[in-house]
Amino acid sequence: MSADCIFCKIIDRELDAEIVYEDDHAVAFKDINPAAPVHILIVPRKHIPTLLDLEKEDESLIGHLHTVANKVAGNLNLEKKGFRVVINCGADAGQIVFHLHLHLLGGRPLLQTMAKGRGV
Ligand code: AMP
Ligand code: ZN
Repeated sequence: MSADCIFCKIIDRELDAEIVYEDDHAVAFKDINPAAPVHILIVPRKHIPTLLDLEKEDESLIGHLHTVANKVAGNLNLEKKGFRVVINCGADAGQIVFHLHLHLLGGRPLLQTMAKGRGV
């Protein structure tokens, strides 16, 4: 737990969020400012600020977050149409919350960001 981290506060139920999934290692909740009809944030319970702070021992945790993304996408019926999973790291990516998280986005056709260099 990091004292002034909003995602740690959500994990500890000090701050409200619409939690859609949780287990011993991860919590998933609705993004407060959704960029798509489905926009879920998947966070590890462990406070890791950015992808750059990952350590060797976190490899299974990062894998687990993707398994959670898979599960949540299934629960929200996104398997057929597809979805996107994004991790922002640092200033150029626009990271604003420094507790590692996966964005799970879907529910509409998403822009081809790699090809066109645009946002989601
Ligand atoms: P990032 O730019 O990758 O750091 O994304 C942080 C995301 O957290 C943004 O999409 C915000 O809309 C979202 N966010 C910020 N505060 C909250 C909150 N209290 N509950 C849910 N989502 C939040
Ligand atoms: Zn945190």
